[in-house]
Amino acid sequence: MNLDSSDSLYPATSAAVRRSKVTIIGAGAVGTALAYACTIKGYARDIVLYDINREKAAAEALDIAHGIQFTPAASVIGTDDPEAIRDSDVVVVTAGPTQKVGQSRLELVGEMAELMKKIMPKFVEMAPNAIFIMVTNPVDIATYISLKITGLPTHQLFGSGTVLDTSRLRYLVGKKTGVAVRNIHAYVVGEHGDSEVPLWSCAEVGNVPLTRWGVCADGSVFDAEARAQIAHEVMRSAYTIIEGKGNTNQAIGLSVTNIISAVLRDEHRILTISTLLDNWHGISGVCMAAPTLVGAKGAGRVFEPPITLDEREALEKSALVLSQVAKSIGF
Ligand code: NAD
Repeated sequence: MNLDSSDSLYPATSAAVRRSKVTIIGAGAVGTALAYACTIKGYARDIVLYDINREKAAAEALDIAHGIQFTPAASVIGTDDPEAIRDSDVVVVTAGPTQKVGQSRLELVGEMAELMKKIMPKFVEMAPNAIFIMVTNPVDIATYISLKITGLPTHQLFGSGTVLDTSRLRYLVGKKTGVAVRNIHAYVVGEHGDSEVPLWSCAEVGNVPLTRWGVCADGSVFDAEARAQIAHEVMRSAYTIIEGKGNTNQAIGLSVTNIISAVLRDEHRILTISTLLDNWHGISGVCMAAPTLVGAKGAGRVFEPPITLDEREALEKSALVLSQVAKSIGF
């Protein structure tokens, strides 16, 4: 069988038909999980998996495409031809170095920066109007330097930030309270990494402030110790999963699929994406996660939930860590 899946299953029938196109840069563990999640959710009509490893990209795309009988209509192709990126509505960047067991995301920064300098200008040339979503780690720095490298406006290029960490937090709070994850309203903000900050002071279960939740499903009390334990588990999640299976890919695939949906369907959702902050709780000039409106134009208004002095102090520390790392690589 020919593994070069560069032909679309359903070529466009007429110029009048508007098809949403998502390109995923990097057909590794994250890129492939994202392509799969995107296909089964039906959010994009055309999905391109682009990788310097053509055989891998083509094989992964073909493997997903063979299941299209069971998904909403889509075409999925895998290629190493940058031409395939042309006119994408959304470009997601997952190419880059990965964390080894015990390694922090920030340790990847030098290698990541060299790669972004090399690849980002070409992608912008191919899809100048696309919304760019950075996923490669350390994602806040990847976002910051890619804004500088490409000169794109801040609404058009942003990072997946702590959308995944927020989802992990909500999962654990849902489990402890015995309430559906969808009814948990809580955010992790700041760095996607060791200095991230869960905003407990404005977290709610339904309409009940989490700080006043009281007794949990397991009979324990949702006190400061329980919150600290959950925050630690969220922050350590990637380390734990990498120890067990070598990478994290499924939940980040779903998280980014949700961001793509917010853009392609102009959903105006509030997501903790990473954007270049401008006086957010006094923080400026650094990319890190904050609750942000996401729609067709990309990143919109950044919301300022009321926070405590301790939370603000933790956010300032997180911002300082990120700006020092950016400076250390000349940005
Ligand atoms: P992986 O090694 O499985 O895949 C990376 C892919 O990128 C490889 O297939 C490689 O061939 C490709 N690649 C390398 N250089 C390229 C180039 N110049 N052009 C196109 N493709 C190129 O890694 P992974 O597990 O998929 O992780 C990818 C990135 O995502 C890592 O930086 C990882 O830390 C990050 N990640 C981020 C989050 C998040 O929440 N932001 C979560 C998980 C992983």
